Amino acid sequence: MKILIADEISSEGIDILRKAGFELDLKFDITYDELKKIISNYEGLVVRSRTKVDNDIIEAGVNLRFIGRAGVGLDNIDVKAAEAKGIVVLNTPEIAASSVSELVFGMLLSLIRKISVCDRLMKMGEWPKKLAMGFELKGKTMGIIGFGRIGREVAKKAKAFEMRVIYYDIFRPDSSVERELGVEFFELDDLLKTSDVVTLHVPLTPQTKYLLNEEKFKIMKKGAILINTSRGAVIDNKALLKYLKSGHLYGACLDVFENEPPKEPWEKELISLENVVVTPHIGSMTIEAQKMASILLANKIIEAFAKKSL
Ligand code: NAD
Repeated sequence: MKILIADEISSEGIDILRKAGFELDLKFDITYDELKKIISNYEGLVVRSRTKVDNDIIEAGVNLRFIGRAGVGLDNIDVKAAEAKGIVVLNTPEIAASSVSELVFGMLLSLIRKISVCDRLMKMGEWPKKLAMGFELKGKTMGIIGFGRIGREVAKKAKAFEMRVIYYDIFRPDSSVERELGVEFFELDDLLKTSDVVTLHVPLTPQTKYLLNEEKFKIMKKGAILINTSRGAVIDNKALLKYLKSGHLYGACLDVFENEPPKEPWEKELISLENVVVTPHIGSMTIEAQKMASILLANKIIEAFAKKSL
């Protein structure tokens, strides 16, 4: 079976696939147009989040039997179009919880202790001690929207900071999970009215697009913080900009954007605000998560091949 690896994945997964006898072509920088031209030569396609696998690529991939995503979100792949053609879509949702949840607290601490502002100003020769009054997480309420793998890891870490943890999800787990993690279920609006820090961990779906919008920002507690490491379009960022500028919200930490990289003037204004900490979609950019993604995906491909489901 001939597989095209269209985004850079860790070498461990590549070695596993080669040892299992798959023929691999590594074209980590391939453009959309090139991909469309050559995809018919392959039975397998492996991507991360850079490569968009839309309906046109799937139509052109007449010999494709599977698409593998080394990572979590599948929003760069037209899964419906793939499945309609009998193409199996594989991903590795298991890999990101530690890395993303650690980033959540990295960004949050950076915002409330003004670490990135101090770092920037000191490198410019200043001593910005007067600007740096911050506050503690201890005793504050963390509201988690989306209580899956990442949401639950965030809950554990928030408890270590001695925060009260509340959550909202469309599926409410067994009450033993709530007891074990020491968390309470709140309806979405109640969570927004109660939380000092709101963090998003839902997938991007038609139901979660702009889940937080002007109407929702209005009911958030004055001085609250918003963290988004899920997907950019889960928030109406134009409305967020308004609520950050008005001072209704204390600040925001954003790892994901509707346009990556951000390109609209209002998006550039949003990321340039002093009370916004930003990173370029690095939630699972750790050695551990990337290694695990490539190994897991390689093993899933081998397993599916052995079961003849590819
Ligand atoms: P998960 O599937 O384990 O959890 C998602 C949770 O969201 C589930 O419990 C689900 O019931 C809930 N949910 C779905 N729709 C909802 C809705 N409309 N309202 C409320 N809850 C809803 O996924 P996960 O592994 O925790 O990852 C969450 C998301 O984080 C991913 O879908 C991905 O988009 C994003 N992510 C980002 C990065 C990054 O680099 N920043 C890395 C990994 C994952």
